[in-house]
Amino acid sequence: MNIAQFRGEYLKERLKLLADLGYNTVIWEIENNIRWETCPECVAPDAFTKEEFKEILAYSRKLGLEPIPLLQTIGHCEYVLKNERYKPLAELPERIDQYCPQNPEVVRFLRKWTDEYLEVFGPIKVFHLGADEAYTLGQCPRCRAYAEEHSLSELYIGHINALSQPLADKGVRPIIWGDMILHHPEALDKLSRKVMIFDWLYDRYYGCGQVHIWGQGNRGRDDLDAATRERFFAYLYPSGDEPGRDPDPFYTADFLQARGFDVVICPSSSCYGDSVFAPRTFFHMRNTVDSFRKGLSRPHKGAVLTSWTVHLFPWELQETSIELAQFIVRHPEGDLAAFEKSYVRDHFGVEDRRFFGAAGRLAKRGLFNSAADLGFFKDARPAPKDYVLNRVEEIAKNGTLEKEAQACADRLEEYGRGLAEFREYSKAVKKGQKELEFWDLAARNLINRAEAGRVLLKDKKEGNGQKIRTEAARVLEGLRAIRRETEAAYLTRIKPQRTKEIMQWMYDSVETALEEVAGPTGGEGEKESPKKKAGR
Ligand SMILES: [Zn+2]
Repeated sequence: MNIAQFRGEYLKERLKLLADLGYNTVIWEIENNIRWETCPECVAPDAFTKEEFKEILAYSRKLGLEPIPLLQTIGHCEYVLKNERYKPLAELPERIDQYCPQNPEVVRFLRKWTDEYLEVFGPIKVFHLGADEAYTLGQCPRCRAYAEEHSLSELYIGHINALSQPLADKGVRPIIWGDMILHHPEALDKLSRKVMIFDWLYDRYYGCGQVHIWGQGNRGRDDLDAATRERFFAYLYPSGDEPGRDPDPFYTADFLQARGFDVVICPSSSCYGDSVFAPRTFFHMRNTVDSFRKGLSRPHKGAVLTSWTVHLFPWELQETSIELAQFIVRHPEGDLAAFEKSYVRDHFGVEDRRFFGAAGRLAKRGLFNSAADLGFFKDARPAPKDYVLNRVEEIAKNGTLEKEAQACADRLEEYGRGLAEFREYSKAVKKGQKELEFWDLAARNLINRAEAGRVLLKDKKEGNGQKIRTEAARVLEGLRAIRRETEAAYLTRIKPQRTKEIMQWMYDSVETALEEVAGPTGGEGEKESPKKKAGR
C-alpha cells in the first residue's frame, strides 16, 4: 500500500469478498500507510491513523481473516530512504532501494519498527520480513569486506537471523520471500528453520517451457550450468532427466522443503509485465492454478495469491485469479475450462465464455502503457512530465520508429477487437454489467494510449503537419475525457491525494507529449507552452 492507498470502506468491502470466497489470511504490505511513530517522515499524507487501521484489522479478524504484517527489512525501502534523515541507512549513497545490513543502526531501527507493528497488529502468529530483491547486496565497503571474508549468503542470512530472533523469542514465526536465499544458497544451513519461506515466481506454470534460476533468469532445459544442475538436479528432474520430460518449474519449493524449511508458494494476479490498465488474465490464471495446486499439496504449507498495486489497474480486473485460487481449493481436480464455465455462470448468468477471449485481447503491453514507459516507480515520486517526449526521442535515435509504430498498430487492432467483444458480450449476459464496465474502461484507455503512441511516433517520423496536429488534438481530447472518467472510478476506491498521484503517473507525461504535437489550438486554448511545462 505504498502505491495504492485504499479507502477504509473499500478495503472492508474487499475483505468481506475474500472471506466469502474462503480465504483465511491477508498479508498487509502496509508500508507508509499508517501514522508510524518510528518513521514519521515517511508517512503518506492520506495514511490511516493507528486507531483507524486497528478497526480494519478487528473487522478482518471477525471475518476469519488472519492478519500478517509485512515490513520491508532490506530491499524495497524507497519509501523510507527517499527521506533525507534516513539516507545514512542506505547500502549505497546514490540509491534509495536497500538498507545496509552491516549498519547496526539499521537493525536497531527495524527492531523498533517491528515492535510498533506488533503493537498495531495485536496478537499474531507470523510476521513477514519481506527481504526480496536486495539488488545491491554486498556493495558498500563494509558489506563487501564481510562478504569477501564469509559470503553474500552469510551476509544476507545474518541480517535475517538478527531480525528473526526477537520475533521468535515472542513466539512469532518470521517469513521471508525466497528469491535471495535461492540466489545465494551457500550458507542456507545457517538460516533458522523457524523462518518460513514464501517462494514467489509469477511466470511459472507447468509447460512454460523454461526454468527460472534466481540470479540468472529464465533458462532452457539444455542451458543449465553445472552448479545449477548439481545443486537442484533432484528437484528439477524428480523423475529423471530424459527427452520429453520438462524440468519442474516448482523445483525451488521442493529444494527448500528438503532442506528443512516450511514453504508457501506465491503466484500473482498483477505483476511486472502488465500494463497499467489491464492484466494478462490467462497468464496469471495459469500461474495461479499451478501454484495453488503445488502449495496445497503436501508437504508444502499453503499458497498465497499476491497482487502488486504498482501496476495500478483495479482489483476488479484481477477477479479471475482471485476466484480461481478458491476454485482450486474447492475443486482440486477442476481445470481452467471448468473454472471459466463456473466463473461466467456466477458473474454473468450465462454459459457463454467469450468474456475470457475479450479479456485476452487487452493482455499485451504496448507503448506508454506500463510503469517503465511512463516514468514512475516504487519510490512513488511524480513521473517527469517530459518522460514520454524523451522516450520518443530515444526511439527515434535507436532507429526503431517503424517497428514501434507497427506494434502500436497491432495493439490498437487487438484492443479495438477486445472492446467490441466486451460490448457484444454485455448484450448477451443476464447480470454483471458493473464488472464489464471496468473492462470497457480499460479497453478504451488502452485504445487511447495506442492512438497516442501512433500519433507521437508519426509526428517524429513525418514532421509536424496540420493533419498530425489535428489527429493529436483529437487523441488529446479523448485522453482528457477518459482521465476524468478513470479518476472518478479510482476516487471511490483510493484516497484522494493518492488518486491524484496515480492519475499523474498514468496520464501526465502522455498528455504533455500530445500537447506538444497538437500545438496551442489543440490544447485547452491559450495556456503555458507545453515545452516550457515539460522542462519543469
Ligand atoms: Zn552495507
